[in-house]
Amino acid sequence: EPRESKNFIEQAIESDLASGRFDGVFTRFPPEPNGYLHIGHAKSICLNFGLAKKYGGTCNLRFDDTNPAKEDVEYVDSIMDDIRWLGFQWDNLHYASDYFDQLFQWAEKLIREGHAYVCDLNADETRQYRGTLTEPGRNSPHRDRSPEENLKLFHAMRDGEFPDGAKTLRAKIDMASPNINLRDPVMYRIMRAHHHRTGDKWCIYPMYDWTHGQSDSIEGITFSNCTLEFENHRPLYDWYCEKLGIHHPRQIEFAKLKLSTLLIGKRHMLRMVKEGLVDGWDDPRMPTIRGYRRRGYTPESIRNFCSEIGVAKFPGTIDIVRLENSIREHLNRLAPRRMAVLDPLKLTITNWPAGHVETTEAVNNPGDPESGSREMAFSGSLWIEQDDFREEAPRKFFRLKKGGSVRLRAGYIIDCHDVVKDDDGNVIEVLCTYDPETKSGEDTSGRKVKGTIHWVSADHAKEVEVRLYDRLFAVEDPSVCAEGQTFVDHLNPDSLKVITGYVEPELANAEIGDRVQFERLGYFIVDIDSTPEKRVFNRIVTLRDTWGK
Ligand code: ATP
Ligand code: MG
Ligand code: MG
Repeated sequence: EPRESKNFIEQAIESDLASGRFDGVFTRFPPEPNGYLHIGHAKSICLNFGLAKKYGGTCNLRFDDTNPAKEDVEYVDSIMDDIRWLGFQWDNLHYASDYFDQLFQWAEKLIREGHAYVCDLNADETRQYRGTLTEPGRNSPHRDRSPEENLKLFHAMRDGEFPDGAKTLRAKIDMASPNINLRDPVMYRIMRAHHHRTGDKWCIYPMYDWTHGQSDSIEGITFSNCTLEFENHRPLYDWYCEKLGIHHPRQIEFAKLKLSTLLIGKRHMLRMVKEGLVDGWDDPRMPTIRGYRRRGYTPESIRNFCSEIGVAKFPGTIDIVRLENSIREHLNRLAPRRMAVLDPLKLTITNWPAGHVETTEAVNNPGDPESGSREMAFSGSLWIEQDDFREEAPRKFFRLKKGGSVRLRAGYIIDCHDVVKDDDGNVIEVLCTYDPETKSGEDTSGRKVKGTIHWVSADHAKEVEVRLYDRLFAVEDPSVCAEGQTFVDHLNPDSLKVITGYVEPELANAEIGDRVQFERLGYFIVDIDSTPEKRVFNRIVTLRDTWGK
């Protein structure tokens, strides 16, 4: 534990605890239920739950459900499920919509005290009056209404007396502020939309900025961690808390997670799902938690990744290889080794006694002696990988070649003396002899060969469907597009190949969710599409990074 130095958020927390500004670490994870969680959210989850745990505080889950037009219970349920899957449990569950009554009363208070007014400008006009980065805004013509008139109009807004968009409630701050967020920001808009929790009770809905800090405050949050795009909103967050005179949490901003070769915004993911470019939110190529889960990532590998990358104050891109290495590292310890041939070539042992079948002993995980070994059927008719044979090969090719020798893992040393070809000259069968003195574990021959390859016994192997997943995008930064292109043009056309594989017979009974290493090929998980007749294996990740070469 004591390995790491403290990140800037931990430093801020410790200084505030030491000075007595706060007496505990109360955090929250505040998703908007308008999509599925992605790997960026995992970072925020690990951060907020992690801080609460580290400092003996609490972490709430709060749905920031202020925009009924885009939100849905489907997302609420999936978010809770994904957080639990990642291994976290919130101390309290809240919805910003539970605070709508309180927010309304607080808005009345600001109106009475002259800090908010009802404005009749429509959305376009409001934008025009707001000014730009270089130009100050102009006061709304309705800015000087009396508190009494504002209160009456605000109630009429709530009571449904005006059409959608006809009026807003705005905070009265400073139309000349260099920070545009302080130029009389909108607090409420009129919007007749059905809310997944409050139904049709409201036809006015509070804006994000008018909701977020107050929700934090109500819950007694002390450290409100959010991403950098809210840095410019912090003065507004502080202004609302101060004017209301309520508990005032500290907002701290950190950089969003950005991963090379990926686009992880909800907007992009929604487009891919809607256009059928992927197979839904849980497509194993998607950067959603659901996607990683189905792909075969473990919660631990994602948590480890988040803790290793830490939090940063400035934007940057994390190499995707770090995430891939995190699952490799975990599965290297966890996953039993099994043999599977994915691109089969027939190999016949010509001196094998006809019909004879032997068992050989194969180690389950060389890194974990406790995992023991298993028996495999060995016969004179095998499948090996096409890639492991060359009729003619350079000297450095240590797999099997004509006139060469190789060890079959957990089997014998074999010597290749001939091949069988089809009419087009393709090798369709490899003919070998085996050396009876060389059985793995009881080798008395003293022979040494450079290469070892995997195999399965043709008569014993079972067929399974194998989905070879690869990166969704083929470029470092899919957001960089030439004119007339969009990120969709960067999709990797080879991100999925579906093939038939030949596996050790027991794997045909593997349970959904089981993870294995196919020796020399990669890590695989049994997919939910599996049936009793046919197992489906997803490739989680290859054994090594093959993109970096
Ligand atoms: P998106 O960009 O996908 O729309 P969002 O920020 O709008 O994300 P929210 O549901 O509002 O999504 O996010 C919940 C929390 O997760 C917020 O505190 C947000 O800052 C954080 N978060 C979202 N994306 C990332 C990311 N890429 N890295 C770190 N934290 C993130
Ligand atoms: Mg958001
Ligand atoms: Mg968003």
